[in-house]
Parts: sequence; structure tokens; C-alpha cells
Amino acid sequence: LLAWWNARSRGGRVVLRVEDLDRERSKPELVEDCLRDLEWLGLDWDGPPLFQSAETAPLAAACERLLAAGHAYPCVCTRAEIAALSAPHTDDAETPYPGTCRGRWRTVAQARAASGREPGLRLVVPPERVSIVDELAGALEYDVAGEVGDFLVRRRDGAFAYQLAVVVDDARQGVTEVLRGDDLLSSAARQALVLERLGLPRPAWVHVPLVLGEDGRRLAKRRRDLALGALREAGVDPRAVVGWVARTAGQRADARPTARDVLATFDLAHLPRVPAVLGPEGVLELGPGTDR
Ligand SMILES: [Zn+2]
Repeated sequence: LLAWWNARSRGGRVVLRVEDLDRERSKPELVEDCLRDLEWLGLDWDGPPLFQSAETAPLAAACERLLAAGHAYPCVCTRAEIAALSAPHTDDAETPYPGTCRGRWRTVAQARAASGREPGLRLVVPPERVSIVDELAGALEYDVAGEVGDFLVRRRDGAFAYQLAVVVDDARQGVTEVLRGDDLLSSAARQALVLERLGLPRPAWVHVPLVLGEDGRRLAKRRRDLALGALREAGVDPRAVVGWVARTAGQRADARPTARDVLATFDLAHLPRVPAVLGPEGVLELGPGTDR
């Protein structure tokens, strides 16, 4: 809703992309449900959706370019090997890649022949900190080398990594503004590196606070009853959801506005810079069993 409001309220186009590169997680019926959820909320988009898994040639070409230019290299390490080589880390931290395979092989074929394994591809991450600008958070710096290290752009099972795919397909779809959850802020720094290596311009990044439960943890997978699909099937009025999001995002809105109703007065500057908490009142407002 926020991405749609921010683009549409300024006359922008909205493109839809289905990021279904993870074959195990992206079942066709789930994709169908996602599209229906968006329509239920009253959102629309320009042109047909791009199904990432259906058009992987540009992703493969980008990998080839990175490899040929020396910006990426083949890596045959398993997760267990990387974990064993790294210093102990706190549980929730990502283990930075120690650079084991950097400079070992010139080509994927050499790596495959020498190791007997199917290689992935990693981006060469420079030691300098990476500066990005977020429209809400301002200028930020990330130590990508120290926190993540050379990261995968193609996994060993052949799947293209999110950090590569999002950058290549944003460019293909002409995306100039990306509005998403602020859990992806540090990803923007990695994407800035991939963009630079591919000679692509950066989009404007707008990272917005997440909706959390009262325990301060993200709602995502824990409250299945509050999933859009569950609310839709329970007969909840989608305008109740739109209204809750609009008011939570600091916008003036009636109790039951349509997504389009909010456009006329939408202003991202009113967005609170703290996570939104969906407490009992919000749940009552949205949840099944209330008046419809
Ligand atoms: Zn490796």
C-alpha cells in the first residue's frame, strides 16, 4: 500500500514483479493468492507482472559479465565449511564469507573440474565501507566486507541470489523508486555494489518501518490469522485493512477508505519513523468476527 500510494500519488507507474526464483517456496497457488490479495486491497499495476523465474536469461548474462570483468568468482564452499572456518558469532548474525575461493579459479569450468562440485558465484566486495542514501533514514554507511564478505550472486544449486535478481530486474522494469521494509536497509548496500559493478544507476530507496506484534517481533509468519489471505477468506472488509494502514502511516483517512481514497492527501513525510505495532485494538478492527 505504501509503495503504491507513494508512486501513484505523484503520478508514477507501479510495476509488479513476482520473485519466484526459490522453487521450493514459490508454489503457483501461493503466487495466485498474493496477486488476489493485492487486488482485494484495491491495488493495480501497469503492464503484466514479471515472473522472475520465467525470464532468467538476463540474470545469467549479468553473472557472465561480472565473472568476465573479475567482479565475481566461482566458489565451491558449503555452508558447513564456511561456518567451520569463521570465528564464533552471535546466533542471529550472518557469518561473513572468509574469502576462501577468491582468486582460486578463473572460470566456473576450472572450479568444477578441480573440485568436483558445482560452483556458485560470489561478488568481490571491496574493503571500503559502502555509502547509501535512504529517503527516510538519510545517508548511511555499511561495512559489507566485514559484515557479509563476498556474497553469493548465484547459489551452488544454480539459483540466482536475491541481491542480483532484484537489481537486474529493477533495471529491466525501469524501476526508479524502491519502497520496502527497513529490514532490507543493509541489503541496499549490497545491491549498490552489484549495481555499480553492472554499470546500472541506483534507484531511490525508501525503507519504511515494519509492522510488529506487541512482543516487538515481526508479524510475518507468526500470525497466520492476520495474513491478508486469511482476512479475505474470513470476509473482512478490505477497507478496514486499508484504513488501519493509512492511519498507522500517519495519513488522514476515513474509517473505511479504499486504497484510491487515500491518494489525494497521501504524504510520505507523515510516516512515523518507528515500527507500527498491531495490538489488540488493531486486531479487533481487522480480525474476523467484527462487523463487516
Ligand atoms: Zn568458496
